[in-house]
Amino acid sequence: MRTLLLLLSFSFFFSCTSSKEPIESSNESKKIDNSSTIVPVVKTEKEWKKELNELEYHVLREKGTERAFTGDLLENKKQGTYTCRACQLPLFDSSTKFNSGTGWPSYYEPIKKEHIKEEADNKYGMERVEVLCARCDGHLGHVFKDGPRPTGLRYCINSVSLDFIEK
Ligand SMILES: [Zn+2]
Repeated sequence: MRTLLLLLSFSFFFSCTSSKEPIESSNESKKIDNSSTIVPVVKTEKEWKKELNELEYHVLREKGTERAFTGDLLENKKQGTYTCRACQLPLFDSSTKFNSGTGWPSYYEPIKKEHIKEEADNKYGMERVEVLCARCDGHLGHVFKDGPRPTGLRYCINSVSLDFIEK
């Protein structure tokens, strides 16, 4: 009888420790990742659907666009870092954010060139340059050449593609 109890408590102990792991890893994903090498984050569409809400999935994975002036980070003027909502890669610093009047958060340069991927987008009869997260391939928005100094660029980014970590 005693050995059975011992065995039971052992298996309970092990099942507890193993079930803790996912909680710890999800806490870690909130930290700012400053590593310079980009290890691609690859997930199935099913996995992304589980992790993102409907609008986030539509914008990040299906290259959608949130409605202008609806994003929760549009008016954010706090100091900090804007990260990818899908994989938490740092993308933009608050010091490069400006009011473009377009209805989407706008930045004149990314935190690091390597954190952003740019691709030609000729959908809807427009010649645009799409901006993607370099780590998870999530759609962020577009970059235009009518931005302010010093770069003259305007990274027009969907709020739902971003998270914000205050300094
Ligand atoms: Zn990402």
